[in-house]
Amino acid sequence: MTCELGASIDWDSILSVFQGDPELIARVSLCHLEREISRGDELDLLCITCDLQIITALSQQENIRFAYMRQGVITIAAEILALVVDRKWEEDMQMFARRSIADAAALLRSRIEEMDALPFLSQAIERGLVASLLKCEPLLTSVGQPVALQEMLLLLGEILPGYSVYRSVLHQLTLAVDSAMAQGLDAKLSKSGGFCVGWKRLKDTVNERRRLVKRDASSGHVQTCQNDMCSKTSHIGRFKRCAGCLHAYYCSWKCQRYDWQNGKHKQFCTRIHQRFVRTHGHMSPVHSKDLKFLDQIILNELKKHRARLGSHPVKLTLVELSFLIGGQVDIFFDTRGAKANPFGTKCKCELYSNARWKHMAEVVREGKKPMVLVRAFIPGGMSRKIVLQAIPLALVVEGRQDQRRNRPVVEKYQFNLIFTCCGSERSYQPVTATSRGFNDVKVPNMD
Ligand SMILES: [Zn+2]
Ligand SMILES: [Zn+2]
Ligand SMILES: [Zn+2]
Repeated sequence: MTCELGASIDWDSILSVFQGDPELIARVSLCHLEREISRGDELDLLCITCDLQIITALSQQENIRFAYMRQGVITIAAEILALVVDRKWEEDMQMFARRSIADAAALLRSRIEEMDALPFLSQAIERGLVASLLKCEPLLTSVGQPVALQEMLLLLGEILPGYSVYRSVLHQLTLAVDSAMAQGLDAKLSKSGGFCVGWKRLKDTVNERRRLVKRDASSGHVQTCQNDMCSKTSHIGRFKRCAGCLHAYYCSWKCQRYDWQNGKHKQFCTRIHQRFVRTHGHMSPVHSKDLKFLDQIILNELKKHRARLGSHPVKLTLVELSFLIGGQVDIFFDTRGAKANPFGTKCKCELYSNARWKHMAEVVREGKKPMVLVRAFIPGGMSRKIVLQAIPLALVVEGRQDQRRNRPVVEKYQFNLIFTCCGSERSYQPVTATSRGFNDVKVPNMD
């Protein structure tokens, strides 16, 4: 590959060598970059800048972008960032240092937002992402690098704290925040700069959520059968997960088959499965530890508003919570006029969960006990999540649950469902049986 900055590149002739194999293209370009990284003290900034630009350009093709993700581009970009910000650069090299920092940050930010980045994010933080973000302020602000600054601030103050709703990410963030403070990196930040604001958001969110980890959530999590004609709710571990989309839970094979044939699950699951095919099998379910932790996080946010919720005279309070931007959880109480597709995408996944939310509201209204019906938006890039919960108001206001045999009792109208998205920005074209070449679309197994 050419290594001349600004040289025009004949992509067709370069890619023809690889016969259009995205895996090979990704492997070769990442190998090149990894070799630069392994040079240690002899770091060749010119080559690194070139490699990053090539990777950024090639990532415009979806299949190559997915190949890069599978081969760990997020971790490698975080490594480069750490190496470049850790070195003192001579004046003549500072431009290249800034450029590689900006490119690595842009690569990280866009891949995290466009892909299902959850499995890779912890690794990136482990490779020093937080410390790198804090260290690059002097290099960037001295000359004014508005785009690079924007990328870094988004990562530090919004994306990373947003992802701390996942325990796996939170664990790494906790270590990173402690280590940054032990090194005094936070003290070096300019008091009036954006990095100081971003860091405070990250630190405060992480510190609040790390306290929630310590709470015993071992037996409280419940799951609801996705078949809305059943909607049975039970403690975690009793239901089986649909192996097609990895997000729907069913109380029985009968319910799964019913929902597939008569409900909307076939449409939804097929779209999620298309994402699975597009990404060559890269799809992460939400770990059961994370599901339990999401309960804690949602409850914690609701408790901040317990006075308002407790004084509400109605039997059912609808609440919408957005965890998409870390550090500022948006809460809306009156959601009667809430958007059916709050993420604003054209795919039908949100409409699917919205229909379920409305149905849940009808069911919960039949009950006698006051309930809080929650719709929570959880970050996840293209695989963003929506959690729907019906929680007894008493649990929010008084903070206690009926206990029997050390396990909280599942209330009759309690619900807990999780939905994900197909990641498509285009409006959905239904896959017909004939276009697939067969008529009998199989119900996926349960795992
Ligand atoms: Zn499914
Ligand atoms: Zn069921
Ligand atoms: Zn979708």
